[in-house]
Amino acid sequence: AAKHAGKDQLVLFHPDLRKDRLERTRLTLGLRQAVTQRELTLVYQPVVDLGSGEIHKVEALVRWNPAGSRPVPPDVFIPIAEDSGQIVAIGTWVLEQACADARRWYESHGIAVTVNVSGRQLREPDFAEKVTDILARYGLPEQALVLEITESMLLATTPAETTRIIAALTGLREHGVRIALDDFGTGYSSLSYLRTLPVDILKIDKSFTPAPQHPDYERMRVFTKAITELSAGLGLQTVIEGVETQEQAVLLQQLGCLLAQGYLFSPPVGAAQIDALLDQEPRRQVA
Ligand code: C2E
Ligand code: MG
Ligand code: MG
Ligand code: MG
Repeated sequence: AAKHAGKDQLVLFHPDLRKDRLERTRLTLGLRQAVTQRELTLVYQPVVDLGSGEIHKVEALVRWNPAGSRPVPPDVFIPIAEDSGQIVAIGTWVLEQACADARRWYESHGIAVTVNVSGRQLREPDFAEKVTDILARYGLPEQALVLEITESMLLATTPAETTRIIAALTGLREHGVRIALDDFGTGYSSLSYLRTLPVDILKIDKSFTPAPQHPDYERMRVFTKAITELSAGLGLQTVIEGVETQEQAVLLQQLGCLLAQGYLFSPPVGAAQIDALLDQEPRRQVA
């Protein structure tokens, strides 16, 4: 019988699963040196004011180019870094680099930088302190930073942790740091999180962005319109992601969306390219 069980267990090691696990181990090991070996870089994607076409904010997005192999996309390595805890060191590096780059954009155009943070980072007891410390070190005012969180980040937290995270976010917000709820609509209980989380900005996930050729176009329009109205009613700023065509931009404006992000305006680009884009815009009064 033991032999039999052994045989059955072997079946569980499907070649793909084993390959997956090996790949994860390889990436986890590789990530150990990602920060110290300077393998991480940041790119920035403009969030554009649909009315004026001007850059309103920039979102920092991390890139990993491991020495000697192809770039690994964040959708692949961020979840691995979250599981291993490496996201804490990576996240700190991202915040520092983003604040270092954002200072000149804030000074010349009053533009804030928006940075994605993971639940694992927020669960660190000193998270809020770390953020204010970094801001101070890079001479950036609190208004120049937005932190993007997701609904799913609270899925794995205990009620005590959730309370602590909310307290940390509330504290940061009182100092002027703004909080954006990212990928809105893709989590499990969007509305209850919207009620309990201290949030200033709502980012509608790109899966809702109406695309005329999509079979679900009508429904996407209805969702987008309703979410935009809900967001405005709550006094939140709304950003829609994944805008790829001019047609979409026009429709979104009709639906009441004022801010958008997507390949139509710009893909994520290096900091120097943000400098160049801003050079084409008049300097703005910093509020
Ligand atoms: P996200 O925060 O929702 O970022 C938006 C993603 O949509 C980015 O993918 C961006 O390149 C992509 N995107 C932008 N415009 C368009 C468009 O018009 N069409 C389409 N189809 N996609 C568009 P990216 O850079 O691969 O990042 C993927 C995710 O990885 C991010 O989603 C975020 O959840 C995570 N991530 C990226 N950087 C960081 C980071 O520094 N820290 C953490 N914790 N997560 C990060
Ligand atoms: Mg984001
Ligand atoms: Mg998003
Ligand atoms: Mg996302």
